[in-house]
Amino acid sequence: MTAAPQALTTLRVPFSDLAAQTAEIRTELDAAWTQVVDSGRFVGGSVVEGFEQEWADYCGARWTVSVANGTDSLQLILRALGIGRGDEVIVPANSFIATAEAVALVGATPRFVDVDPRTLLIDAAQVAAALTPRTAAVIAVHLYGQMADMTALKTVTERAGLALIEDAAQGHGAYCGDARAGSVGIAGSFSFYPGKNLGAFGDGGAVTTSDEGLAARLRSIRDHGRSDSDRYRHDMLGTNSRLDALQAAVLSIKVKHLDAWTEARRAVAQDYREQLLDGLVQLVEETPSTPSVYHLAVVRTTQRDDAVSGLARAGVETGVHYPVPCHLQGPFRRYSPDPLPVTELAADQILSLPMFPHMTHQQVSYVCETLSSAVTPG
Ligand SMILES: *Cc1c(COP(=O)(O)O)cnc(C)c1O
Repeated sequence: MTAAPQALTTLRVPFSDLAAQTAEIRTELDAAWTQVVDSGRFVGGSVVEGFEQEWADYCGARWTVSVANGTDSLQLILRALGIGRGDEVIVPANSFIATAEAVALVGATPRFVDVDPRTLLIDAAQVAAALTPRTAAVIAVHLYGQMADMTALKTVTERAGLALIEDAAQGHGAYCGDARAGSVGIAGSFSFYPGKNLGAFGDGGAVTTSDEGLAARLRSIRDHGRSDSDRYRHDMLGTNSRLDALQAAVLSIKVKHLDAWTEARRAVAQDYREQLLDGLVQLVEETPSTPSVYHLAVVRTTQRDDAVSGLARAGVETGVHYPVPCHLQGPFRRYSPDPLPVTELAADQILSLPMFPHMTHQQVSYVCETLSSAVTPG
């Protein structure tokens, strides 16, 4: 044997590399954390308010209301819109479980719809077909980093007089035409879980909205239903769901780097696209009007088991997002009598390859070469 295969097997490719991101901004982080620690202001305060303004500006929405995580942000939006028992909320079956979970947690009924076979995102035609007199809202999920077709969805929801909510937990900074994720629907929901494109050093989340009344209700609900004018008066039933100042400090620094990191992710995706075997393994489609921020690099292959084991043997980490669609998960099976064939077929074929801003060309090539020897034509 030559030395080449030996050299290749020593190259390990992690699914993601948060340490590289942290190293890039370490000096700024240390200074910001020290300031928060010295201030003694750990919940709320100017650091949190500063980040809320930055995130609203970044997304092109009037307000950001920060919360504890991206599941709470969905739940609080639904509660602030008065959605609950007796209401149906349309959600795509292909999503992280939290989208449907939030609907069920406010007492409403998730109604699952199938996705577009090319993008695997919520499909406006399927939404239109699923409307009932009880439908109160639609949650569009910008899955994998690509925005759903908000133009088509807006047409459907406006005609029916429904709230259109964006689950943008995987879509920080993504565009649909000229509009950024979080600026199109009545509200946008974000997660700052460490692995998201904009991630804190723990849990975090936010709602973006340009609706003044909704923003005010969200601010109250996240803080025990407190009234604006009197902190000892609780006008509505609230909860405790706030962003810590330490997390806000991290996010304020990272948001300045987000566009550069997104460009780096897009370059990695382009590199994958050029090197992946045509036909056998393909990246999920990106449409020209909805350029992806590539939270995940999802490919489809009919030989997923072979691909996963071949890559694992070569030291390449992969994931599947998601192997069991939401409507087939235990708590949700009772809501969906109809099969959803596009989602169910995709669940057996999708594979998430390593994707992170600091991924090198050599790492992408190694993944693609390993993949091409793991799957066989014909
Ligand atoms: C991560 C995620 C959430 C939930 O966010 P958490 O901060 O983990 O609660 C919701 N929806 C989608 C699509 C996600 O990827």
